[in-house]
Order: sequence, then C-alpha cells, then structure tokens
Amino acid sequence: MQNFNDVIERFRETESKLKSLSYATSMLFWDASTGAPKSGADARSQAVGVLSGLGYQMLVNQQMASDLDTLMANLDALDEMNRVLVKDTKKEYDKLTKIPMDDYQKYNMLISKSSMVWEDAKADSDFESFKPYLTQVIDYLLKFADYRGYEGHPYNLYIGDYEDGMTVEQLNVFFDELRERIVPLLKKISDKNKVIDTEFLSRKFEVNLQDQVSRELLTQMGFDLEKGQLKESVHPFTMGVDIDDVRLTTHYYEDDFASALFSTAHEGGHAIYEQNFDRKLQGTSLASGTSNGIHESQSRIYENNFCKSEAFLNYFLPKLKSVFPEQLSDVTTKHFYEAINRVEPSLIRIEADELTYSLHIMIRYEIELGLIDGSIKVADLPKVWNEKVKAYLGITPPDDRRGVLQDVHWSEGLFGYFPTYALGSAYAAQLAHYMSKEINLEACLSKGDFKEITKWLNEKVHVHGALVKPNALIEKITGERLNSKYYCDYLEAKYAKLYELD
Ligand SMILES: [Zn+2]
Repeated sequence: MQNFNDVIERFRETESKLKSLSYATSMLFWDASTGAPKSGADARSQAVGVLSGLGYQMLVNQQMASDLDTLMANLDALDEMNRVLVKDTKKEYDKLTKIPMDDYQKYNMLISKSSMVWEDAKADSDFESFKPYLTQVIDYLLKFADYRGYEGHPYNLYIGDYEDGMTVEQLNVFFDELRERIVPLLKKISDKNKVIDTEFLSRKFEVNLQDQVSRELLTQMGFDLEKGQLKESVHPFTMGVDIDDVRLTTHYYEDDFASALFSTAHEGGHAIYEQNFDRKLQGTSLASGTSNGIHESQSRIYENNFCKSEAFLNYFLPKLKSVFPEQLSDVTTKHFYEAINRVEPSLIRIEADELTYSLHIMIRYEIELGLIDGSIKVADLPKVWNEKVKAYLGITPPDDRRGVLQDVHWSEGLFGYFPTYALGSAYAAQLAHYMSKEINLEACLSKGDFKEITKWLNEKVHVHGALVKPNALIEKITGERLNSKYYCDYLEAKYAKLYELD
C-alpha cells in the first residue's frame, strides 16, 4: 500500500486547488453582480462553465475515489481538521456521483427550462403553465433521494444539504412551537389596531450620504473595510472569498433609506462571520460558514437583535440626525423604533416584517414536506397555499403571482432551503439569550459599542468556520440544541412592549 501521508498530501492539494477554482468562480459572480457590462454575459457564463467543468474533473476521478476510500477507512488516524475535510468532501463526492450522469444532465436541462417557465408564469399569474415543470422537478428530487440514500424522511436529505444534521423530526418540533405562539401573538397585534406613522421613512435621503452611513455602521459593528469591500447590487449579498477579502453589497433607495441601512447591518453580520474564521482554516473549504442557518443567525442577530433594538437606536438616531438633519428633525427614538419594527401581515415574503417572516417560512416548509411525502399534490398547490396564508396571516392572495408563484426556489429545485431562514432567526435569539448572561447588551448597544458583542461571536461562533457542524456548535455554545423557546420569548417580549399588549 502507498504511503498514507502521500494520500493525505494529495487530497489536501486537490482540496486547495478546488478552493482556488471556487475563488475564481466567485469573482466572476461578484463582477457580474456589481456592475460588469451585461454585454459580456455570454463570455462570462462560458468561463463559469469551464471552471465548473474543471472542478468536477478534479473532484470526480479514480484517484480521488480511491484516496477518499483510504481516508474514510482511516478517519481515526487523521487530525480533526483533516477528518472534517475528508468527511465533507466525501459527502460532496457522493452527491455528485450517486446520481447517474444521464439523469443529472436531464435534470439540469429541466431546471433551466423550469426557471424560465416560472418567470413567465409568475408575470402572468398562470400556475397551470408551471405545474407540469414543478411536477417533474419533484419527481426528480424523489428519484435522487433514492439514488443518494437517506435516513428517515426523504426531506432530511434536502434540509441536510443546507443544514448539516437537521431533520424533519427536529423541524416539526420547532415549527409546532412557532405556530402555537406566533399565530396568536399576531392576532393580538392585529386586534390592537395600533397606528404607527411611517411617513418619514419615505422622505428623500441622498444616496451618497446613505453610503457614508452604511460604511460607518459596518466599521462600528466590527467589520474591517480594509480587508473587504462594500458595493451596490440589485439584491444585497455577501461573498467571503478569503478571510482577508470579504465582499458585501447593499442597495440604496433615495425614498427608502431604512432598506439600505438594515440590509447593510444584515450583510455586515454575514461579512463579520467570514472575516473571523480561525487562520488555520484559511485556504480550505472549512473557511466558510458552517451552515445556511448559522450564517443567517449572524446576519439577523446584527440586523434585528442589535441594530433594530431600542437601545441601539437611542445611540444611533442622533448620529443619523447629524447626517440627515432636515429629514429626521421631528423623529423621536420611540417613533423610529416603532416604525422600523411595525408588524403588518403581507403577501410577499421578502417584504415581510420580523414577526410575520417566520410564518411565511412555515407555510413553505409545510408545503415542501407535503410535496415530498405525497400528502400535497402539485395540482392543489394554489388552493393549499391560499388556505395556509389565510390561516396564518389572515389575508388572501388575490392572484398566484403574489401567492404560490412568488419565489424562484422551487423552480430551481431548491427544496430544504427555506427553513434555514427561520432557523437563522431562532439561532440568533438563542445566542443573544446566552450572550446576555455574560454581557450587558443594553449598556453596550446604547453606547453603540459592539466590541464585546462582536468579540463574543468571534470566539464562540466565527472562529470555528465549518469545522464544527451546526447542532454541535449551538450545543457547545449554549449547552443545548436549537430551542425555539428563546425565539418565541424574544418575539413575545418585543412586541408585547411595542404594541402594549396585556
Ligand atoms: Zn442573509
């Protein structure tokens, strides 16, 4: 047998090259999203195609197959980092190889067609035209689940692609408690009929000054702009290509300054995570967030738990007033706080407030589960959708464009992705609860001082990168697994005060 150390070395070399390839692909995507000429789209997608082909060849070949076999059989002989790297790579390798090439290609063709059909179907509010495509997408997902193998519910496989170790069993407990506590809370708020004036939010705020405020906020939160870049894109996103090179975007609207402000806080949370992985992980695939849910917890904790808190606004509003004296002269902290935290059931997920957002996710989770286990038929989707929106949010979509057709995810086969948004908020609340046992959050936030807060997250969450998986990470930090109690407690306390509920 060949020397075991040679196998490890070869494996690590390939792993590192794959990371470089993904760096190059990311740069193309960053460029395309932040101002590259549209006319170059064909050349860019040609380049992306070549790079992803190279990545496939580098990962899926005889040498890698035999190296992974050797390494998987000797996991005990590896140090922690190599062990996790090998297991992650094996998971990725299986995902790519257990599905026959022919099926995989047909599926990719279906997806590209189905997302085009979805776009028109959404514009025309025409579910019927999308129906046969969605049916086929789900058939493929079921077939792939058989090829790939799974434990328990087939949906476990798909949620596991985004949230390692998460199961339907765990999610059901999570969403049951959410349903039980958030639906009645929303009802109480709606019955209160409290009027919150939000007129000032749509006054004119110069974009270049908004940009200045965004940069100051990022720095204050603990993001190092010297090792990163803030630009503008249609949809804000964060891209960490290296610990020393983390990019993020926001989007400025002259008549909606709160939008850019809080999406900067949100992306800033993602970006701070990407900037603070342990140096020893640099250049490996472990220098990344450990899951979608944990990544989202870092964005939401800064956006909602910190930057939208009354304590922080007490500090921040005077700063904003010094930049926008005319626009904000008549606005008090209480008014500002209430306006940006106003609850209003709405049809569109991406426009939802913090409270109703999780209900939008719950609707999608219940439907995805039903579609995968066969208890919901594609043909009944618009009806099922509208019933759930009515039951949870108390409103009825007037058409499918603003109902079942609003999200792109299903047309692209992205099942199991939605729940991670709600998990992010719940992890955030759980982390904030435990953080508050060690740090006086009120006192820090009311001085705009994020030093202790960001350091806590650096040490407890960020440093581990993808080395520690989500269930283990949350247990390591808080002594327990995901517990929806903290999220529900947080929402109840926040909105009881804001809406003066009994
Ligand atoms: Zn996010």
